[in-house]
Amino acid sequence: MTDIRIRIDSKTYPAIGQAGQYQAIANLGLSLRAGEFVCLVGPSGCGKTTLLNIIAGLDPDYDGEIMLGSLHTSPKIGYVFQNPRLLPWRTVRENIELALGSHQSPELIDPLLETMQLTRAQHVYPERLSLGMSRRVAIIRAFAVDPDVLLMDEPFVSLDAPTARQVRDLLLKLWRQRPHTVLFVTHDLREAIALADRLVFLSSSPMHVLSEITVPIAREERHNETLIESYRQQLMKDHPEIRQLL
Ligand code: ADP
Ligand code: MG
Repeated sequence: MTDIRIRIDSKTYPAIGQAGQYQAIANLGLSLRAGEFVCLVGPSGCGKTTLLNIIAGLDPDYDGEIMLGSLHTSPKIGYVFQNPRLLPWRTVRENIELALGSHQSPELIDPLLETMQLTRAQHVYPERLSLGMSRRVAIIRAFAVDPDVLLMDEPFVSLDAPTARQVRDLLLKLWRQRPHTVLFVTHDLREAIALADRLVFLSSSPMHVLSEITVPIAREERHNETLIESYRQQLMKDHPEIRQLL
C-alpha cells in the first residue's frame, strides 16, 4: 500500500442555464495514508462525487494532480457507486468476476462472498437481491480488484437503519481482513464516526477542506452507539464550522 496525495487547484463545470463556468472545487488538498479509512463529510451538492470521479480518472477535466507515493500515476481504483450498478443479465458471481484482472483467479472471490454472507446468493441475478445485498455485492466487486484506494460514494444511502448497520459491520469486517486505503463519502456524521480513522469536512461551493479530525475512539468501541452519539455532540460543540454542513 502507498500514500496518496490529491491536489485539486480548480474544477469547473459549464454553468447550467447561464453563460460562464461554475467553480465546483478550488484549492482542495487531501492526503491519504496507506491503509487509512477516511470519511469525507459535506452537504449535498458540494462536490463530493465530482472529487471521487476525478480521483477515479473518470473526469480528466481539472487543474491539479494526484500522486501515488512519489509517482504521478493514477492509483488503481475500486469504486462503490451510490447506486450498485450491477449488470442485470449476470449473476452475483459473474458481476464480481467481470471486475477481476486477467492475472486474478476467480477463486479469490470465495472468501469475499463468505465474509459478506453472500455465498448462497452467488448464482442469483441482481433482480432477486434486496438493496442491502446489492450493496454488499458492489463492495465485494470493489475489494476484489485489490485497489490502491477504495472509493465509496454514500454506499449505504436509502437503506433502513438496521440494514445500513449490518452492511457497515460487514464492510468493517472485510476491511480488517484486507486493509485498504478507503475514501468514504457520507453526509451522516454518526456513520462517519463509526467508520473513520479521520474525518474530513468539506465546504460547499467552491468545495475545499474545512477541517480534518482524527477520531479518538478505539476500533473495539465503534459499535457503541451511545459513545458515537456523545462524540458527535462534542464535535458539534467544539467545531462550530461543521454545524452548518449537517
Ligand atoms: P455531491 O456529490 O457533493 O452531492 P456533486 O459532485 O454531484 O455533489 O456536484 C457538485 C456540484 O457540481 C453541484 O452543484 C452540481 O450541480 C454540479 N455538477 C455536477 N456534475 C455536473 C455536470 N456534469 N455539469 C454541470 N454541473 C455539474
Ligand atoms: Mg454525490
